[in-house]
Amino acid sequence: MLEIHQLSVLSDNYVYLVRDSVTGQTGAVDPAMAEPVLAALKRLDWTLSFIINTHHHPDHVGGNDALVRETGCQVVGPRADAARIPGITLEVGDGDEFALGEAKAQVFDVPGHTRGHIAYWFRDAAALFCGDTLFALGCGRLFEGTPAQMWHSLSKLKVLPPETRIYCAHEYTQSNGRFALSVEPANSRLVARMQRVDELRAAGQPTVPSTLEEEMATNPFLRPDSLEIQHTLGLPGAALVDVFGATRALKDNFRS
Ligand code: ZN
Ligand code: FE
Repeated sequence: MLEIHQLSVLSDNYVYLVRDSVTGQTGAVDPAMAEPVLAALKRLDWTLSFIINTHHHPDHVGGNDALVRETGCQVVGPRADAARIPGITLEVGDGDEFALGEAKAQVFDVPGHTRGHIAYWFRDAAALFCGDTLFALGCGRLFEGTPAQMWHSLSKLKVLPPETRIYCAHEYTQSNGRFALSVEPANSRLVARMQRVDELRAAGQPTVPSTLEEEMATNPFLRPDSLEIQHTLGLPGAALVDVFGATRALKDNFRS
């Protein structure tokens, strides 16, 4: 069994502590900073075995050096971007399996946000750690990749089991949802989801994780086949990759 503990750090980052309950092996997914991770490990009485990085941005690797110094943990991260992952000791890429004790994760290369971005799918736990690739109601900005690359990356994640929980790295859901409603206002699942999101945020609660099933039904970046989105964008019948690219470009300039 994979135990998952969610930490809010910085303004909107999530760090996940994950532990294989069979062996006690423990990972910290994208530790933006070290102190809150060390404090949580102490509280939980967990011993850090691995930092598990999805990509090189400072709000994901900022705690690496101090955590390695304090705990002697290993660092697993993208082979394609090893030079930008501080302290990396285990390089993984598409199709590799990462073992956190008995808990096994399949690795996907998901370039687009950065060129070396990877995601970790713990199949038995139905948990996907996808960093800044797929967000609740959104997807990452294309800093180092093309729309076609990102669409290909998202297409690998879209086909995972619908019950997969989406552990993304930021609480962006409310602003993502305002954009989503602007391109697909008649999507009743989206309208209902946003009501729930607003309630959760008003109560100071996280909206993450969601499930892939919810994202498939409401996230515009997974829905370029939606006739309403195609109509909003003026791209009826266009190739899905082009609808996706136009949606991403529109979001880049969206002010909610
Ligand atoms: Zn990032
Ligand atoms: Fe980030």
